[in-house]
Amino acid sequence: MDKLKRVNELKELLNKASYEYYVLDKPTMEDYEYDHLMDELIKLENENPSLKTPDSPTNKIGGEILTKFEKVTHTTKMMSLSDAFSYDELRDFDVRVKRDAPNATYCCELKIDGLSVALRYNNGLLDLAATRGNGIVGENITNNVKTIKSVPLSLNNNLTLEVRGEIFMPKKSFLALNEERALNEEELFANCRNAAAGSIRQLDSKIAAKRNLDVFLYYLLDDNSKTQEDALRSMTELGFKVNQLYRHCNTIDEVIAYIEDMGKIRPELPYDIDGIVIKVNEKNLYNIIGETVKYPKWAIAYKFPPEEVKTKLLSISYQVGRSGVITPVANFKSVFVQGSLISKATLHNEDYIQNKDIHINDTVIIRKAGDVIPEVVKVIKEERPADAIKFKMITNCPCCGSKLVRKAGEADYYCLNEDCSEKQINRLVHFASKPAYDIDSLGDKVVEQLYNAGFLRNIPDIFKLGEKYDELIELPGLGKKSIDKLLTAIEASKNNNLDRLLFGLGIRHCGAKISNILCKRFKNIDAIMQATLEEIANIDDIGEVIAREVVEYMQKPESISLINELRDLGLKLDFDMQEIKENYFTGKKCVLTGTLEAMGRNEAKALIESFGGSLSESVSKKTDVLILGVNPGSKYEKAKSLGIYIMEEKEFLKKIQE
Ligand code: NAD
Repeated sequence: MDKLKRVNELKELLNKASYEYYVLDKPTMEDYEYDHLMDELIKLENENPSLKTPDSPTNKIGGEILTKFEKVTHTTKMMSLSDAFSYDELRDFDVRVKRDAPNATYCCELKIDGLSVALRYNNGLLDLAATRGNGIVGENITNNVKTIKSVPLSLNNNLTLEVRGEIFMPKKSFLALNEERALNEEELFANCRNAAAGSIRQLDSKIAAKRNLDVFLYYLLDDNSKTQEDALRSMTELGFKVNQLYRHCNTIDEVIAYIEDMGKIRPELPYDIDGIVIKVNEKNLYNIIGETVKYPKWAIAYKFPPEEVKTKLLSISYQVGRSGVITPVANFKSVFVQGSLISKATLHNEDYIQNKDIHINDTVIIRKAGDVIPEVVKVIKEERPADAIKFKMITNCPCCGSKLVRKAGEADYYCLNEDCSEKQINRLVHFASKPAYDIDSLGDKVVEQLYNAGFLRNIPDIFKLGEKYDELIELPGLGKKSIDKLLTAIEASKNNNLDRLLFGLGIRHCGAKISNILCKRFKNIDAIMQATLEEIANIDDIGEVIAREVVEYMQKPESISLINELRDLGLKLDFDMQEIKENYFTGKKCVLTGTLEAMGRNEAKALIESFGGSLSESVSKKTDVLILGVNPGSKYEKAKSLGIYIMEEKEFLKKIQE
C-alpha cells in the first residue's frame, strides 16, 4: 500500500479513537489494537521522516482538554510512556539504556489502568489536583479528587511539594457501579479505566464521591531521593498510597521474571493493571539518558496482552428491558475465559454491532471487561465464512411484534407497547427482586409462571394473589405448601419500607440510593407525589435529570391510580426512619464459613440484613467479607486466594454492635 495513504489512514483512525477514549470516555477500539496501530505509525514515520507532520498523533500526549474544567499549566510536563509488547522489545530497551548508562538497574512497578493525576500541596495542604490533559495543560479536578479517601488532604510538616500518580476504580466498585447502572437501565462503562475517567470528570463532585475511586502515587517531584525505590519509600512515609508490589531488578532477566510473576497474580488483583512500568532506578542517570517530546527514554511500559479467546458467533437474540429497551445479545459457542464458561455477551445496541461489523457465523474474539463482564472484542474478518449473515436490527419487538422506535439522540430502540409481556414480566421481576421490594419466594421463574398462567399483569396483582388461592394451588410445580409460603411472604412484604417500593416502581434513574434519599427527605409517598421539580433537584445527590423523571412519573394519571390501588391493598406508604440502621455491613456481601459460637447462621444473616448487607452461600470475587467461624471449610482457602477480607468472630460481634 502507498505509505502516505497508510499514514493518513492511521492518523485518522488514531485521532478518532483518541477522541472517543479521552473526551467521550467511550472507547470503540481495544487498547491493544490502538497501541499496535500507534506502533505501526511510529515505525512508518521513523522510516520516512518526510511523512511525519507536526499534528501527528505520535507527537500528542493524551487527548483534548475539556473546556468544562478550569485549565491548569503543569509545573513540568506530564509525560506518557513508550510501549513494549514483547520481551525482545524490552531487551532492545535495555541495550539502549546501557549504551548511555552501563550501570543502570531497574525499578519495576505495576502499570495501573486509570488516569494520571498531579497533586500539589502547599504548606502541607492539598491545593490543587489536575489531570494530565495534553501533558502541558491539564484540567483542575481538585474538588473531585478531594472526595477520594486515600488522597491525604493534609501532610505532616507543612510541606510544599507535588506528587503524581494514577486514579483508578477498583474492580469491585466498577462492578457495583455497572450493576446499579444496569438496574437503572443506564449505559454501562466499558472498563475500570473509563469508569474512573468518567467519574473524575463529573462536574458534580457528589457523583464522583459516590464512585469509590482510589489512587496510587508513583512520582515525587524535586525530591532528593537517589533512586526511584527510595522515592517510593519516601512517598509511603509521607502518607501517600503507594502500590507496594514494586521490585528492584538488577538485570533485564530479573525484570522479565517480575513481569511473569505479576502476570500470574493479575486476575486476583482488586484493581486493573494493563502492564508493568520499568524505570531506571538511579535518578542521576535520567538526564544522561534523556527524553523525547513525548516519553522519557529511561522508562518503558510493557503492555500485557488481554486474555482473549476465539469462538464462533452462533446467533444474535434480543432482550426486552422493563422500560422497553431492546438489547441485542451475542450467543456464541461456549468458551472458557479467565476461569469461567461463557456463551453470551451483550452487544449493547445497533451502533455497537455496526461499528464492530459483526456478522452471524463470524469468528469472534471474546474477553472479560474489567476481567468480569463478557464482551465481544472484535470479529476476525479474514476468517469470515461464506455463510456469514450481515446484521440487521429488527424492526419489531421480538416479544409482542409492535414496531420499535429509536428515540432521538439515543442509540437504543424501544418497544412502546405497555402490554408487551416481556416488558411486564421484567417489571414484575424487578419489583419483587431483592434490592427492590424483596418478596421472598417470588423469583424470576415464579413471576414468569404466574404471568403466563394469567395471574399477574401488574404490581397490584401480586397483592391480590390470595383471592385466587384455590386456582393457584392447582398450578403444576407449585402446590399448597409453596403457595402458602409465597402468600405469607407477600403479606409480610406490605410492611416494607417505602424506599423499597419506590425503587420497585422502576422510575428511570431512580435507583435504590436515590429512592432512599427521596424517602428520607419527604417521609411519605404523598409528599413525594406533590414535590416540585425544584424541591427534588435541590436535594444533595439529586440532579435535575433525575428530578424531572421522578416528577413526570408521579404526575402521570396511571401512576396516581397505581399508588392509590397499592394504598387500598394495604402497603405501607410512609418511610420509617428507624428501620435502616447503617453500619459497616451496609451494602456488604458477606459469606460465613464454619460455626459461630455466639449465634446461629440465621441470626447472623438477619443481623447483617438488618444493616442492609447480605449473607450468601459461596465465595466469589464479589464477596466483601468472609466471616470466620470454628472449623472453617474450603471457603476460607478460596477467600484467601481472592484476597477477600477475613473477619474473625470477635471482630464480627464488635462491628455488629457499632
Ligand atoms: P500509557 O497508558 O500507555 O502509559 C503512560 C501512563 O501510564 C502514564 O501517563 C500514567 O498515567 C500511567 N501509569 C500507570 N501506572 C504507572 C506507574 N507505576 N508509573 C508511571 N506511569 C504509570 O499511555 P497514555 O499516554 O496514558 O495513554 C495511551 C494509552 O491509552 C494507549 O497506549 C492506549 O492503550 C490507550 N488509548 C486507547 C484508545 C482506544 O481507543 N482504545 C485511545 C487512546 C488511548
